[in-house]
Amino acid sequence: MSDEIYDVLVVGGGPGGYVAAIRAAQLGLKTACADKWKNKKGETVYGGTCLNVGCIPSKALLESSYNAVRAREHFAEHGVIVGKVAVDVAAMQKRKQKIVDTLVGGIGGLFKKNKVAALSGAASIVSIGDVCEVQIGGKQTVRCKNLILATGSVSRQIPPAPLDGKRIVDNIGALEFEEPPKKLGIVGAGVIGLELGSVWRRLGSEVRILEALPDFLPAADADIAKTAAKIFQKQGLQIELSSAVTAAKVSGKKVSVEWECGGKKQKDAFDKLIVAVGRAPYTEGLNLEAAGIQTERGFITVDEHCRAGRENIYAVGDVVRGPMLAHKAEEEGAMVAELIAGQKPEVAYETIPWVIYTHPEIAWVGKTEKELKDSGAKYRKGSFPFAANGRARGLGETDGMVKILADEESDRIVGAHIIGPGASDLIAEGVLAMEMAAASEDIARTCHAHPTLSEVFREAALAVDGRAIHI
Ligand code: NAD
Repeated sequence: MSDEIYDVLVVGGGPGGYVAAIRAAQLGLKTACADKWKNKKGETVYGGTCLNVGCIPSKALLESSYNAVRAREHFAEHGVIVGKVAVDVAAMQKRKQKIVDTLVGGIGGLFKKNKVAALSGAASIVSIGDVCEVQIGGKQTVRCKNLILATGSVSRQIPPAPLDGKRIVDNIGALEFEEPPKKLGIVGAGVIGLELGSVWRRLGSEVRILEALPDFLPAADADIAKTAAKIFQKQGLQIELSSAVTAAKVSGKKVSVEWECGGKKQKDAFDKLIVAVGRAPYTEGLNLEAAGIQTERGFITVDEHCRAGRENIYAVGDVVRGPMLAHKAEEEGAMVAELIAGQKPEVAYETIPWVIYTHPEIAWVGKTEKELKDSGAKYRKGSFPFAANGRARGLGETDGMVKILADEESDRIVGAHIIGPGASDLIAEGVLAMEMAAASEDIARTCHAHPTLSEVFREAALAVDGRAIHI
């Protein structure tokens, strides 16, 4: 064991961990970050699920596959004639990998620039105290004054549909198909089911999504979910609600799947099955129990400042309570680094945005109308369709709307919900408005450039007071 004692050791180099490490180093703390993730060449890479097998590669494939739709269905109306459109999945996969490799390499570069020591190997806690000892990669023991656990999550499995890695796969396998499966089954109409279902549908797969719950996108505002269901159906995503999968079996080149819907048994055979039923916190090998670190249903128990039972032990990101979103993990990572440095940061959990990168995109922040109704809150609402916006017309992207919910008395924005072009970027205005405690009137009186999609956000704010201009 070396004499060196780090101020901060971060275990896990995903968005929670690498941001914590960089922020800690920026604040002058002597910092190390350990990860065991290996790329296909066997090199240790940082970036975790998000960069390696999550947000980044899926968005690359979503963009490539949507370009196929543009070329096939929309170019002609712009007067761009391309003839028969062919899809080269290998080229798409190569592009995806290049983006991943560049960004993953970028984290290594940021570590170097900020003097974060990049350690390679699985971490196991040896002892906890004012100075903690953590074994990395089974050999090296590292000492630290503060420990941040950011070990993330893995895809949840269900007993009726065990993964075989070839025909029954999780999100990782679903990003690697060499060609669109002719018939693709998906268990779970959540974020991953919809995003990856969209990718392969656009590339030619027949897609059937089986969802156990009776409601579609129950976390989204009902108006948005209803609009989305209609649009996705038109795109050919066959979404079946109240359909809990009871068995999936590989036989030869097919996967036969059984499910129950309204008390009736149903079955179908697919070329591939993606299981996308949520994710579970990952703490394997950390030795939490022996170290006396509490867990609850697998999640490391933390307070609102991500302290895990002791002043110098923290956990952030998917491995703790709250939404499993990269940007939530980043917020927590930065907060914890700043706390260790003696600052007084907070995470504004109520203004964490959600985005689903389908086409059109879906994004929201704050309360849904149902949540406001259920809590007895008095509110006013305004919505505005993209179809009435000049820029959306020019883009040929007229599906969807922005809906703003504001407190009846104070007019403060309490929720913003978008389905439409650029929703993932437009939601930032709603997040900022809520963070700054803005009223819908503040948005309504803010000049928005013309012609832009952002005008839809402003018109929805005007509509809260019944004075939208362009409808
Ligand atoms: P999810 O929680 O979004 O959706 C899982 C769905 O599977 C749910 O609707 C659930 O009711 C359904 N389900 C569960 N068991 C089932 C069964 N036996 N049969 C049929 N349906 C069943 O989870 P996900 O899509 O797997 O995503 C995992 C996590 O990753 C989520 O927490 C998500 O926030 C995150 N993620 C986020 C993004 C994004 O922000 N755009 C993208 C991908 C993943």
